[in-house]
Amino acid sequence: MQPFVYEALPTRVVFGSGTVGQLRAEAERLGVRRVLVLSTPGRGEAQAREIAALLGDLAVGVHAGAVMHTPVNVTEKALQVVEELGADAVVAVGGGSTTGLGKAIALRTDLPQIVLPTTYAGSEMTPILGETQDGVKTTQRTPKVLPEVVIYDVDLTLGLPPAIAATSGVNAMAHAVEALYARDRNPVTSLMAEDGIRSLAQALPKIVGDPQDNEARTDALYGAWLCGACLGAVGMALHHKLCHVLGGSFDLPHAETHTIVLPHAVAYNAPAAPEAMERIARALGTSDAAQGLFALAGRLGAKQALRDIGMPADGIGQAVKAAVASPYWNPRPIEEVGLRDLLTRAWNGDPPRA
Ligand code: NAD
Repeated sequence: MQPFVYEALPTRVVFGSGTVGQLRAEAERLGVRRVLVLSTPGRGEAQAREIAALLGDLAVGVHAGAVMHTPVNVTEKALQVVEELGADAVVAVGGGSTTGLGKAIALRTDLPQIVLPTTYAGSEMTPILGETQDGVKTTQRTPKVLPEVVIYDVDLTLGLPPAIAATSGVNAMAHAVEALYARDRNPVTSLMAEDGIRSLAQALPKIVGDPQDNEARTDALYGAWLCGACLGAVGMALHHKLCHVLGGSFDLPHAETHTIVLPHAVAYNAPAAPEAMERIARALGTSDAAQGLFALAGRLGAKQALRDIGMPADGIGQAVKAAVASPYWNPRPIEEVGLRDLLTRAWNGDPPRA
């Protein structure tokens, strides 16, 4: 076994059907008395009001202002609300966008956070925050943004439409896939990664077949937790970098971009990470990691071509340039020719290179 470093992150996790009922007790445990509930507008707000009701007199209000990619001006508005209401904690109910707002508030105020995830994005388990200002997204890693408590209530995910569940689930798997070949990988994170991939790979097709399959929803959320913990614990590589570049350059939807790119990024890295490939394939129940991921996305009915989610054909060259411009670690060196081939296949919706 290679020498390794493993650092456990201190988030308290409460998991299971109906666990939202423990929210008030968790807030009391933190010793907070004036909780602001955060969500996205619309459907998210209605859910946030129900959650606020569970907090009773501990809730001071609902702020349904979260949007994708955590724009700084949106955070500033929320900070005003925090101040006006004298909030001493935030509860974020929603996907990565709402969690991002809670983290951005915590970064500036040190307020404790309780997160109730409703997608599989995994942000709730990481000390990472990406923020956007003037069209530029910058990411930082700081323990200040790591939530104190995460309540994974399966019931909150039952309404997640199967199409979003599918791509959100593959987005989560991407964290675990890259954790298996991360430079700073370690045996504990790798165990979580393999089990996370296995849980999601088995659960997602069942959810698409029957959105009310409670056992599958439970397995998917469990897998999402493990995958999010992997993202929080070790560094990511080519796949996350590419998705970041594509999302930022062409304003592509986050989870769908991950779903399309993942098999191709895995095929690119396969020759340099045979042990990881073996573990990914084993978790998927296939013989080839990249082809297995492509087949899974097909079974889930997810879009498989970047051209179908709004990327222009002449964007391939631009994305290749941006991806090679700032150096970062990857198991296989970043080569322009190979990247162009990867993105061309992903743009067309072709299977990954064998
Ligand atoms: P999201 O939070 O924007 O949610 C996606 C959509 O699903 C939204 O329209 C939302 O309203 C809807 N939705 C959420 N839960 C639902 C439910 N239960 N039922 C019905 N609809 C529901 O997107 P996301 O994919 O969860 O998160 C993406 C964002 O999170 C991006 O900004 C990404 O950069 C960030 N992220 C950050 C980290 C990190 O560690 N910092 C990790 C992963 C993702």
